[in-house]
Amino acid sequence: MSRLPAGVLREATIDVGAITANVRHLRRLTDSEVIAVVKADGYGHGAVRSAVAALDGGASRLGVADIGEAMALRRGGIMAPILAWLHAPGTSFVEAASVGVELGISNFDQLLQAAAAASQDRAVGVHLKLETGLGRNGIAPEDYRVVFSEAARLERIGKLRVIGLFSHLSNASAEDDRAALGVFRDAVAVAASAGLAPPLRHIAATHAAIALPESRLGCVRIGIGIYGLSPFANRSSADLGLRPAMTLRAPVAAVRRVPPGHGVSYGYDYRTDRETTLALVPLGYADGVPRNASGAGAVTIAGERFTVSGRIAMDQFVVDVGDHPVAVGDEAVLFGDPTLGVPAADDWADAASTINYEIVTRIGPRVARRQVSA
Ligand SMILES: *Cc1c(COP(=O)(O)O)cnc(C)c1O
Repeated sequence: MSRLPAGVLREATIDVGAITANVRHLRRLTDSEVIAVVKADGYGHGAVRSAVAALDGGASRLGVADIGEAMALRRGGIMAPILAWLHAPGTSFVEAASVGVELGISNFDQLLQAAAAASQDRAVGVHLKLETGLGRNGIAPEDYRVVFSEAARLERIGKLRVIGLFSHLSNASAEDDRAALGVFRDAVAVAASAGLAPPLRHIAATHAAIALPESRLGCVRIGIGIYGLSPFANRSSADLGLRPAMTLRAPVAAVRRVPPGHGVSYGYDYRTDRETTLALVPLGYADGVPRNASGAGAVTIAGERFTVSGRIAMDQFVVDVGDHPVAVGDEAVLFGDPTLGVPAADDWADAASTINYEIVTRIGPRVARRQVSA
């Protein structure tokens, strides 16, 4: 835990065992089928490895934002059902349909495009996405009836298979989410009267899947939770029985003993107030370490907890470690599993006025991912 392999400048270790355990835990907790959401390169953890680990933990399906992400999973050898729900205007669904990628359908045009991608021997699998309050995409309530009728017709003639009806919640409050759930239930009834009986209905992401049991509907789409992070401001990973999968670390690249009054990093926003030791950590905003967390982000070096001193630069930042015996090559950990004594992604989120989702998802491509299983 205190030194990285020689030659490593920065790395994110990804504990795939944690992802598997988190999915298993959430599956039991929700007693529902789990669609593991691995968009945005698995929230920065690696899409294929996250998918494999989630399927090992009992997820039966995968969710991504777009078709490019779904195709990358197929190329990576993932054969499980995949749903992609955000499409470029005018996209052809032929390639996606040819490898069995299921499409989230948010309007009448997309429904027709999906049907156009059907072949003689293969109906295209779709999940109809319903607008229930969030104001993003999804079929508008006034269009439910016409879209459902056409979907039912296309299903009868073998062009489409309507696998699911779904929506997404705001998490604004339990009342707001219950109201959206009410709109969703009404839509399910309208769909039934139009002749649709899809096997799946799903509306809950991690937040609602945990906090609003009535939203589970036997199928939940879990993103942040599978990576072991909490979607709640006031509940930690450990509170939820989850283990963070990503640990971001780097070796101390340089150490310098300086006198009082020494400036640190651009703008000298930080000046030493005594003789002290400065340690250089080779991670910066190019790697997704938020510049907004300058002077505030937490880091453990050789097991001791410190705060970033001065500005975070593109490639590096400095930490005033006082008289602690820190040496070149000692391990600096920006975040990981806080039960192991390191900062949490949530600490960086707080320091940068953002959310843990953004912290892990923006870890950049220069940071080597190393897969481990604890
Ligand atoms: C990203 C996303 C999810 C996963 O949300 P989490 O809060 O990470 O669990 C689920 N559904 C949709 C439509 C999404 O865009």
